[in-house]
Amino acid sequence: MECGRCGRALKDKKSFERGYGPKCWKKAQADEKETEQEGETPQHGENEGV
Ligand SMILES: [Zn+2]
Repeated sequence: MECGRCGRALKDKKSFERGYGPKCWKKAQADEKETEQEGETPQHGENEGV
């Protein structure tokens, strides 16, 4: 099975179930949320809180 986003081979069982690799899974979820929530997009790296 391959990642539904980048096409890489999936190694983890969880990734198999999701259909995405770990990173792409997060991105896929973020994409879904983008349609729901607005204004919570970290734009710059200034909010790292030293
Ligand atoms: Zn991927």
